[in-house]
Amino acid sequence: MSPNGSQDQESRGTDIDADRLRERYEAERALRLKLRERGDVQPVERGGRLARFGDDLFAPSAAERAPRRSRTDVLIIGAGFGGLLAAVQLRKAGFADIVLVDVAADVGGTWYWNRYPGIRCDTESYIYLPLLEETGFMPSERYAPGAEILDYARLLARRYDLYDRALFQTRVTGLEWRQGQGRWRVETDRGDELDARFVITQSGLFGRPQLPAVPGLTSFGGAVFHTSRWDYGVTGGTAAGDLDRLADLDVGIVGTGCTGLQIIPHLAAAARSLTVFQRTAIQVAVRGNAPTDGEWFARLAPGWQARRTRAFDDLTTMTGKDESEIYDGWTAFARHQLTALRQIPAGERSPGVVDAALEQSDFAWNERLRAQVDDIVRDPRKAALLKAYYRTHCKRPGYSDDYLQAFNRANVTIVDVAASPIERIERDALVTSDRRYPLDVLVLATGFHLGSSWGERAGYDIVGRDGVTLSQKWKEEVVTYHGFHVHGFPNMFFMGPHHVAATPNVTRLLTEQTTHFAFILGHMRDHGHATVEATAEAEAEWSALARSRGEEKRQLFEQCTPGYVNNQGRLDTPNAVALHRYSPATEYFDLIAGWRAAGSFEGLAFGAS
Ligand code: NAP
Repeated sequence: MSPNGSQDQESRGTDIDADRLRERYEAERALRLKLRERGDVQPVERGGRLARFGDDLFAPSAAERAPRRSRTDVLIIGAGFGGLLAAVQLRKAGFADIVLVDVAADVGGTWYWNRYPGIRCDTESYIYLPLLEETGFMPSERYAPGAEILDYARLLARRYDLYDRALFQTRVTGLEWRQGQGRWRVETDRGDELDARFVITQSGLFGRPQLPAVPGLTSFGGAVFHTSRWDYGVTGGTAAGDLDRLADLDVGIVGTGCTGLQIIPHLAAAARSLTVFQRTAIQVAVRGNAPTDGEWFARLAPGWQARRTRAFDDLTTMTGKDESEIYDGWTAFARHQLTALRQIPAGERSPGVVDAALEQSDFAWNERLRAQVDDIVRDPRKAALLKAYYRTHCKRPGYSDDYLQAFNRANVTIVDVAASPIERIERDALVTSDRRYPLDVLVLATGFHLGSSWGERAGYDIVGRDGVTLSQKWKEEVVTYHGFHVHGFPNMFFMGPHHVAATPNVTRLLTEQTTHFAFILGHMRDHGHATVEATAEAEAEWSALARSRGEEKRQLFEQCTPGYVNNQGRLDTPNAVALHRYSPATEYFDLIAGWRAAGSFEGLAFGAS
């Protein structure tokens, strides 16, 4: 069996009752759609009633500094791996005059905010951590802990001299294109007035925490916090665990996505009691983490990281190629599906036959994972609740060797809040439709608000040429060229999720994007161009192409139980990312690399000023 990443890839499935499973998946989806109608989550709004859930516990007060008035060549908004990689690529291309702006007090982005116990990357660190060959850094483990990843982001910032160029604890509040000057005017909440020739910006997908939309959240008398603002003052311990202040406390956690999966074993080990409020079970395959073999790492031949990264994408995005040296849950599932495809006789490969083979092999994969739950979880009632009934990749798959095992502890209870929804929070308890659960600490692992507009996520709108705002431009639908450029917004490079490749390994996308930006900026410098903008025609053509590639996944997403992957089942809103992604990823990366190689800069218009 292959969920553990072994090479055993046989495709079973002959004893699968596909009709029964289809019915079960559909019933789960329908139940969740019904729950969605109750208005189940609310984002943390700056300045709103829930604002304190967004406070920075790692740097509670902002360092004093005078407002900055300066001109800069390139302003980068966001100092996570995306912003850092943009800065690094530009530095390497000879651009020295760069400013990074971030709300956080340090670099790291998602790894700055998410420091909860158990945090690790869930794709292999050897491909997740960028620039390993340049920095010579060896991740300590196959799936590196979050603290190490944050330290690595800091290492990049130091190595490429980015700290002196960063404005931390600073939120961009306005961006406006000054046509006459050919520059962007940028305002911040620290009173800065920055003037930039180019802006590279991103809205961040996982930057806006969301909380259950139930009454009473702010009147809870115990400690309550979102996982991206972990309060170690309450729990004790560190991201490595040992949450020693929980020993005499009753703890509840809402949410069993990838975040809950990593946290629950630590809460289970530390708390007097742990109640897990689960709405949808997460699919769990074996993780198989291990320390890095230093000798193996030292032997890797130059160019290994790009090859390893690419081969992973080729395999996991189902191009049909399998040259990957990675054997883990991601690749095991892809290999399992490839095996099913290879069994289709030549000449019978119609789209319908391919879809049916993929569905059957997905059923088989999940039946095995469900059987694995029975093998691990001793209490049959708990085991039944912990089985996931949706297709793989409807939600981000979970990998863990201690999550299911945690439910064998006598102090751990699981509550099905799909059957008995959470009704309210009281001063000392969480109340579902059929019971009251007294709690001292409530952890909200309820994810992030994704389905909102770019401006809502970023916290500011962008005023482009002729006073047109980005929210006006994207009112009906998101349009871009290559995912990076928007007509009417010169010298602005977007690192959003729309119209770009979907790959499980996000830093690959960031690397490709920022390589592209540095290439264009280098060309402009070498040829004396002052402005760059996508033509309206190129934008329309690309947007139609990207949409059509996204549409290929419509049927799959329509059948999925709601989650952020399918925009909670709302596929046709302008902001939904699900159908706005180009797949397969490898084809997208090849396409933009081919565009660079052609050197004709097709679709872009350059200006003198
Ligand atoms: P998530 O995947 O959106 O999961 C949120 C969880 O909260 C789900 O179980 C959801 O249930 C539940 N939930 C939300 N609102 C609820 C409500 N009102 N009542 C009851 N339950 C509710 O969020 P996440 O786990 O924080 O993960 C977000 C993403 O961050 C991941 O997919 C991944 O991309 C990234 N991440 C990465 C890693 C890594 O290792 N690299 C680790 C953690 C997270 P439903 O499923 O029923 O909606």
